[in-house]
Amino acid sequence: MKKRYLMLALIVLIVSLSFVSASENVSVSNDLEADDSYLSVSDTSVADNVKNNVNDNQNNAGDNELVSNDTNTANSSSSTNGAVADTNSSSNNGNVANNNSSQQTTPVAKQTPSKIVTKNLSSTYGTQVSYTVKVLDKKNKPIKNQEVVVTIGTKSVTKFTDAKGVATFTCNCQAGSYVIKYKVGKLTGSNTYKVKNKITLTTLNWGLKGDVSKIKLIKKNMPNNAWVKKAVAATKKGIPLLTFKGGKGKVVFMTAGVHGNELSSQVAAMKMIKHLTDTPIKGTVYIIPFVNVKAISKKVRYTDKDFNRIAANSGTIPNKIVKLVVKYKCNAYGDFHTTKPGGVPGKNIVMGSKGPATQSAKLTNYIAKYCKVNKKIYKYAGEVYPGAISDNVNKKGIPAVICEVMLPHNTVTTKTVTTSYNMMKYLLKFNSIL
Ligand SMILES: [Zn+2]
Repeated sequence: MKKRYLMLALIVLIVSLSFVSASENVSVSNDLEADDSYLSVSDTSVADNVKNNVNDNQNNAGDNELVSNDTNTANSSSSTNGAVADTNSSSNNGNVANNNSSQQTTPVAKQTPSKIVTKNLSSTYGTQVSYTVKVLDKKNKPIKNQEVVVTIGTKSVTKFTDAKGVATFTCNCQAGSYVIKYKVGKLTGSNTYKVKNKITLTTLNWGLKGDVSKIKLIKKNMPNNAWVKKAVAATKKGIPLLTFKGGKGKVVFMTAGVHGNELSSQVAAMKMIKHLTDTPIKGTVYIIPFVNVKAISKKVRYTDKDFNRIAANSGTIPNKIVKLVVKYKCNAYGDFHTTKPGGVPGKNIVMGSKGPATQSAKLTNYIAKYCKVNKKIYKYAGEVYPGAISDNVNKKGIPAVICEVMLPHNTVTTKTVTTSYNMMKYLLKFNSIL
């Protein structure tokens, strides 16, 4: 008989120990940040991961059920165990007793979940939101201490419901569309979670003002977008700078309207602002759609000095732009222009240099290839135009390009806007932002 008691004590000990390790596994991070799980729903490899994760959770849940069932066995056997302790070493008994006490404090819901209440989530990048899972029994009464497993992408978090039957999860994901899956006992379900880019408008008060809404072709080609409207309105006070943040990733800066009468690139920039309002990005994008707001408002290339010839001179507006690109630790810069037929360069073209920022040449090749435009790669930035903005950015070690589409000044065509827009898009694609 003693042997049987000993065996029982041993089984209790093993079950208790396995429970302790299981409960350690349960307490993971409380936040569903999904830093490494930026996912698109259509991505099959991610979908497989989710599947595996859910399976893992099912296994865990199974283990826990086993433990909670065995708790009763352990409790009922502990009195018998006491008898064993009398005839055995007390240290053995102590272990069992300790483990028993930890089992007794473990929350285990007794009711069976019958109804789950959840909602779809939407937020802006950088803003934490709560996902709540309310668990009710068949009489619609909240179930306390019910285990709830929530999975976003490859990350799963387990929590228990409170007295109101609610388990709360904090979500702080990067911009994108996610599926949130929950598992409560045998019940499973899902919700959508949409995170938009964080967008801000800054007006650079550098002593230059205008009103680009006076230009008919700008007004006519303005996309219906609140941020475009704000940027256009801001030109009355200064130079508008829009920032789009979607999460971890590279930082890209782009400008249009360095020359006032080059409208197609400015229209393309407005189109890009609309696109980035609606499309989650990986990284950060800065856009100045209208640099020389004064010259744009007067339909001229420049009013005082050509902004693309004085960027090396400290204190000038183009030099301030170069400094901003450096300050924001940008990975790339693109300056978007138009060139008139018969002018210089007088064709659709992307231009960069081999040095000092070596990536500039790769970026130039990439944009030329995917946008089917000409290319020119100089040996060293600034060898022809020492005062160009893109060359001065390159000289700071940041890969930069200048992109031109050909059409007469103060005109806009759908084709040139599309070409200019595509060059912006591939600048972002090269940096894995889109
Ligand atoms: Zn230009």
